[in-house]
Amino acid sequence: MSATRDTAQAADLLTWYDRHARELPWRVSPAARAAGVRPDPYRVWMSEIMLQQTTVAAVKSYFEAFTTRWPTVSDLAAAEDADVMAAWAGLGYYARARNLLKCARAVADEHGGVFPQTLEGLRALPGVGPYTAAAVAAIAFDLPETVVDGNVERVMARLHDEHMPLPQSKPVLTGYAAALTSQGRPGDYAQAVMDLGATICTPRNPACGLCPWRTACAAWDRGTQAELPKKAPKKRKPTRHGIAYLVKRVDGAWLLERRPDSGLLGGMLGWPGSDWSEEAPADAPPIRAEWKTLNAEARHTFTHFHLRLTVKTALVPMERRPERGEFVEAEVFDAGDLPTVMRKAFALTTG
Ligand code: SF4
Repeated sequence: MSATRDTAQAADLLTWYDRHARELPWRVSPAARAAGVRPDPYRVWMSEIMLQQTTVAAVKSYFEAFTTRWPTVSDLAAAEDADVMAAWAGLGYYARARNLLKCARAVADEHGGVFPQTLEGLRALPGVGPYTAAAVAAIAFDLPETVVDGNVERVMARLHDEHMPLPQSKPVLTGYAAALTSQGRPGDYAQAVMDLGATICTPRNPACGLCPWRTACAAWDRGTQAELPKKAPKKRKPTRHGIAYLVKRVDGAWLLERRPDSGLLGGMLGWPGSDWSEEAPADAPPIRAEWKTLNAEARHTFTHFHLRLTVKTALVPMERRPERGEFVEAEVFDAGDLPTVMRKAFALTTG
């Protein structure tokens, strides 16, 4: 594919984007950008961290809440860890929240509260991988970096009728994306390809009739869109089992335990529990009590396994001391601050 044609193809997409760009709370519209408005790198970075493994619809309200409560990177850097973890509850993949704080503190302490403006500088920040660094460099600073997420991979596989399965095909698809990246408007271009993948070149039933790249699209030409991108077969997820202990004190306080920083749901508050394993879990009650086992299990699926939690409940007197965890008074307890799997366990006690 020649450089001239690449430029024309990028221009076709940008013309489409100028008319059809999605309005998103972290985004500067193409018209505003053309008028000289620059995106706030803090908002671009936060949106990219939140959007990893999470849909736009789920992220919007969290993004608004975070940027209202912590409007600048320095505000976030000064936040209490527990407040940030609680505000993140429900968004999942909690390592992202810990890295969010680490990164905000690195920007505040080592860069005077200003995000580095180079790919290398961004890449050196905690929790900022190659994808996020490229996205922030392109969207916030208009650097001609190639941004490749799942949407872009799908579009590139179809555009080039590439049948090599993912993840093996990643370097090839990245190469295709790099060849098309706009040099003139890289920030708008990066968002335009993402929008094309999210709204037109969707996983199922792509709207090829509305696509600005239809005449260049090899999959459309050959009718192979629905088969692409090919993916290597997924491994079956194992099922792990565990026990969650929901202990209420007679004054309404709940027994919670902060999980270790490393590992799943690291740093989050949750119900004390057993290990999670593929064998039947060993009972590990956090306090002496008369236990009642609920009939229903709390079920949740993580990236690498399904979890089934047996829920045990108990009511304990004021003077009873736990072996693990701490009681959280009824007035400050908010089930909304718990990770989703812990909320599911709680819902079984109220349902
Ligand atoms: S023509 Fe269809 S398959 Fe090809 S890029 Fe456009 S929406 Fe995707």
